[in-house]
Amino acid sequence: MPRIIFRDDDTSYFTPPQRLEAIYGRLWEAGLPVCLAVIPMVYADTRVYWTDGNPHDPSIPPPFRGRDQCFSILDNPELGDFLNEKAAAGLAEICLHGYTHVFYEFTTHDRALIRRKLERGLALLNQAFPAANVRTFIAPYDRLSPAAMEELIAAGFHISTQSLNLAPLPALPQLAGQGAAAMRGGQTLFVCDDYLFTYKRDPAQSLVRARAAMAGNELTIICNHYWMFYHPWRDRPNVPDYAAWNRLLDDVLGGETHQATTFDGFAQGDPD
Ligand SMILES: [Zn+2]
Repeated sequence: MPRIIFRDDDTSYFTPPQRLEAIYGRLWEAGLPVCLAVIPMVYADTRVYWTDGNPHDPSIPPPFRGRDQCFSILDNPELGDFLNEKAAAGLAEICLHGYTHVFYEFTTHDRALIRRKLERGLALLNQAFPAANVRTFIAPYDRLSPAAMEELIAAGFHISTQSLNLAPLPALPQLAGQGAAAMRGGQTLFVCDDYLFTYKRDPAQSLVRARAAMAGNELTIICNHYWMFYHPWRDRPNVPDYAAWNRLLDDVLGGETHQATTFDGFAQGDPD
């Protein structure tokens, strides 16, 4: 049966568990897992330099934007308990999503800096989510230098990324679109070039693309940012995006055409 992986980026100190529940609660009720890319020590003055005007990162709540301060995942114990319980029940794979999540954080070639960020980030996630087995790395803004890629592989991580990061390392499987392949060393490389659901696209188009990806691939990675459904940081999910998302969940939960898995579960061959 074809597989589907739900990946959600940017859970951090600032993430209210209720927002994750609103997007993924139906999957969790059905016993299906979600992969959450978690920022260990989010920097509140992170700006997005590829967007006109260099706006603040949309995952940071407006009252905190611009503060020259980092916020540890350990200081949101409500989120810690919520996700640790999900991890213990096999409903969440906790993935390492950079360290502070500053723009292009892992495009550096400073190997000592990369190693320090990986070690500290992993230690924080292990402390916040002791039931989790953190094995997968997802780069902030999906950008990785070749040095970062090599350090991640040496540190034993599976990697979920975009194909544009692979070209400088021809020894890696040169995947594109949607897919996965084993790397030397035993870990798995996952590629997802289209996030499918994004607030910058007509929600009806997001749904069309997601359905086409599921119909055309043995593995589909649906990459969300939970904050996108609330953009720009409203109290409730915005109706068009949320409605389209729920249509996709109707397909997944009603159709039984796809097996939901995690990055690590896929890499291990999905033992039941
Ligand atoms: Zn991110």
